[in-house]
This record gives sequence, structure tokens and C-alpha cells, in this order.
Amino acid sequence: MKLKEQKSREFLELICIVCPLGCSLSVTKSDDRIRVRGGCKKGEKYVKEEITNPRRVVTTTLRIKNGVWPRVPVRTSSPFPRDKIPELMKFLSSLEVEAPQKRGEVIAKNLLGEGVDLVVTRTIERKE
Ligand code: SF4
Repeated sequence: MKLKEQKSREFLELICIVCPLGCSLSVTKSDDRIRVRGGCKKGEKYVKEEITNPRRVVTTTLRIKNGVWPRVPVRTSSPFPRDKIPELMKFLSSLEVEAPQKRGEVIAKNLLGEGVDLVVTRTIERKE
């Protein structure tokens, strides 16, 4: 019985990236439970999300027509599901926007139905 219990458990060591302290966290994962040791509540939340639904903020550039620069930098408005990032990048590589674009403007809403928007991070003026 004890041996079976041990087999259904996983042990992980993760470095928390939520703040500059970078605590080393010990994680025990069994069928329905994740236990975290070595950090604060924020670190625990980070680990649970990282294991169950890892997400990342995506930053990239898009082609822009008639801009003073050929590309406009953008990022997602919040972290995006990591496993869908390749699909997102394929979609973004097909987009082209028109200048001008202002910093903070939303270029695309609800990316791939995930409730995350795409935001301009640098103003690109139109060519004269
Ligand atoms: S566990 Fe808490 S204190 Fe440690 S790095 Fe993460 S957020 Fe910072």
C-alpha cells in the first residue's frame, strides 16, 4: 500500500520566478493534490498554475504598412496558454496592420478565443 502511494507521487524542484528572491520550491504532486514547500503564498499559486495551466506573456512584432518602421512591437495583455503559443505565433505572422499605431492600443481582441488581447507597445507613426 505504501509503495503504491509513492509511485503515484511526483517530486519536483522549481525555482519561483514571481519575485527577485527566486526561492527554491519543493513540490509534491499526487493524483489530486499539489503541495508546495519553501516559499510564500504567491510562490504556491505560481507553482500550481505552472503545473496545471502554464501561461506566458507573449511579445513579438507585426508587419506594419506605411509605418516609419517596418514592424510594430506588441505583447499579449495577460499571460497566454503556453501549449497554444505556436498556434498564436502562426496567426500573428499572418497579420499586417496599418500605420499609425499608438502605444497601448488593442490591435486584436480575444486571441484564439482565450480572452487575451494583443496590445501595441511602441507608437509607430505613418510615413510622410
Ligand atoms: S516564493 Fe514568494 S518570496 Fe519566493 S520568489 Fe516566489 S514570490 Fe518571491
